[in-house]
Amino acid sequence: MPPPASIIAMHAPAAPLAVLSPWAIDGLSHGFMGRAGGVSTGVYASLNLAEWNGDEPAAVAENWRRWRVAYPRFTVARLSQVHGKLVHRVDASWGDARRAGDGMVTAAAGVALGIFSADCVPILMVDAERRSVGAVHAGWRGTIAGIAGEGVRAMAALGARPHAMRAALGPSIGLCCFEVDAPLADDFARQLPGAREHCRAGGPGKAYVDLRAIIRGQLERAGLDPAAIANVGPCTRCTADGYFSRRAGGGAVTGLQMSFVGFAR
Ligand SMILES: [Zn+2]
Repeated sequence: MPPPASIIAMHAPAAPLAVLSPWAIDGLSHGFMGRAGGVSTGVYASLNLAEWNGDEPAAVAENWRRWRVAYPRFTVARLSQVHGKLVHRVDASWGDARRAGDGMVTAAAGVALGIFSADCVPILMVDAERRSVGAVHAGWRGTIAGIAGEGVRAMAALGARPHAMRAALGPSIGLCCFEVDAPLADDFARQLPGAREHCRAGGPGKAYVDLRAIIRGQLERAGLDPAAIANVGPCTRCTADGYFSRRAGGGAVTGLQMSFVGFAR
């Protein structure tokens, strides 16, 4: 009997991990991982690092082994993401428990903050001089709740200075593909200053929303220099070969890509 496909894949030569890392900062490891380089199959193919969404545990473990070969100097703090606006302060004792929340900040060296997404916007933040970092998960609910600004405030509470911070908004669903019911677009426009200019008419009863542009405005209002905010990577739904996209999969369960940031010890 032939071995299961995942066992064969694990013994095949490893494809390189795909990661977009916008900054060159001494001691900082960070990036937006794509799908490439793992061994998971089907809707989880291939670098799914989430063990809680139905993927085969052995495949996820192998994916993690590969990630740790590339980034050996870190433990990874993660969350149970709930589309809210709670941002946790993480220290070296955080461990493996995934507490409920959608953002983390830390000044602890050797801890990488890992955020998971498949269309929602992953946001990474850093104050290079103060050696503090943040990672935030912002879908439409978190965006309306203001999680981007909460992330900046949590960084400031750690000693980071918003005017000196950099932020990067990673691969996520773009204006091209984020069509929502018109009342939801109206919610954005009503609740968030400046959001209306980032909504476009869609099909009947629908509208398109540019989440990254709205979040950029929130970060600027929280004190970041516009020139220090980067859009990194494509629309996930348009590039579903390279990135997990829940919408590209028709809303079904998919793997999740990890975005991470941390200073090495
Ligand atoms: Zn698109």
